[in-house]
Amino acid sequence: MDADVIVVGAGLAGAAAARRLSKAGKRVRVIEARDRCGGRGFARAHGGDGPQLEFGGAWITPWQNRLRALVPEYGLELRPRHPVTNRLWLRDGVRGSGPVAPGDVTAHERAIARVAADSMLLKKGLTENENNEALTGVSFAAYLDRLGCPKSTRNLFSAWWTVSGNGDHDKVAASEFLASCAYDNGLAEGMIKFWSDTVVPGMGVLAERMIAGSGAELILDDPVTQVVQETGHVEVVAGTRRHRAKACIIALGINQMPGIGFTPWLSDGKTAALAAGHGGRSFKLWIRAEGVPVGTLVTGDGSGIEFAFAERVEGGATYIVGFGLMQEGNDPSDPAWVRRQAAKLFPDARVLSHDWHDWVDDSFARGTWVAALAGHEAGLDAANWQPEGRIAFASSDYAREQAGWFEGAVISGEDAAEAVLKLR
Ligand SMILES: Cc1cc2nc3c(=O)[nH]c(=O)nc-3n(C[C@H](O)[C@H](O)[C@H](O)COP(=O)(O)OP(=O)(O)OC[C@H]3O[C@@H](n4cnc5c(N)ncnc54)[C@H](O)[C@@H]3O)c2cc1C
Repeated sequence: MDADVIVVGAGLAGAAAARRLSKAGKRVRVIEARDRCGGRGFARAHGGDGPQLEFGGAWITPWQNRLRALVPEYGLELRPRHPVTNRLWLRDGVRGSGPVAPGDVTAHERAIARVAADSMLLKKGLTENENNEALTGVSFAAYLDRLGCPKSTRNLFSAWWTVSGNGDHDKVAASEFLASCAYDNGLAEGMIKFWSDTVVPGMGVLAERMIAGSGAELILDDPVTQVVQETGHVEVVAGTRRHRAKACIIALGINQMPGIGFTPWLSDGKTAALAAGHGGRSFKLWIRAEGVPVGTLVTGDGSGIEFAFAERVEGGATYIVGFGLMQEGNDPSDPAWVRRQAAKLFPDARVLSHDWHDWVDDSFARGTWVAALAGHEAGLDAANWQPEGRIAFASSDYAREQAGWFEGAVISGEDAAEAVLKLR
């Protein structure tokens, strides 16, 4: 045996699994496709020489206690998010201080109240509201149609969608948006309240230190292509090498796993979930600009960069984090396109540069944070991702709690480690 347990993937889920297994005295080997740890947690210098910014996941919430405990344990710090001090809306191409025109206020408030009620019902575990309207299995577009709200209200919800459901309106489940509204009192505006801190110098460093501190052997730059269960052990193939261990944890998300061939093949529930995949397709970018007061939050007109927050000031420039959907007409790699977007949202801004990471095109991510496709929500249930033989599964994508968040990755990694520890 090369190890007691092989962990495939050095994201936060893999790191948490390695940490837990090592504490139990297991010999662990972690195999990672990239040349770094952290997966979708990825901080690097803006533009190569600017401040360290998170290009993947960034914020943790006040209730994410596992992460809050890990941060000081590994010598990292928390950086509180700058509060929202200036809230602006883009409406009919003009930036203003309200989301809708005076004539639309009643219809707007009716839609806000419906969303708030539906999100609270969903939080209680109900799948229909009192009008027998479905809260699950329905796409965001269908849900918005049902609301029948003014265009500017729809645009407002669309902006918050880029930081919650974050995928094709026609495909991703509206419940992703409702669940995020439910963090607070059912209002979309409440979502940002709980993005309370970022980990400094970065979430990837936390994953790296967790693995190093566990004493696990780490192999980088080596994508796993096959996992074979034999009697009493598992063989994991990466490149030309076969690694042998008593058990294996696949610490990969829904869109990453199809890169691996399993023998025997996985159960029907898992196979169906992998075939559907998840629909997380937002882009996140950072704009370095002058003339933008920190703390300004602007939501857009339903196109391009739909959500922009002036997150910090470093070296005299403001760093704006922006979100939109990877869809036709949007090109976050094009500086001219980004400048045009910034000019709409921040007319006084002088854009100096921008930077981003394309998670959708990244072959070891194939998407952003998890977003269930309407009708395929059950495939992402933790119940569907129980161990099979000597293989356990860990990812934020299908964590039993706080799925989609870093904390979910830690919970899922620890759960998978516990499952493996029970194997004889
Ligand atoms: C743009 C963006 C913004 C986000 N914002 C937030 C946020 O603010 N707060 C928050 O909590 N979460 C956020 N998230 C989500 C968070 O980043 C993820 O939930 C979390 O990082 C997932 O961890 P994981 O370990 O489950 O998966 P991953 O981090 O994806 O780890 C999987 C690992 O497996 C590796 N891998 C893939 N294929 C193979 C293979 N064949 N062989 C070996 N290794 C392989 C990958 O390289 C990766 O390192 C965001 C994500 C993105 C992309």
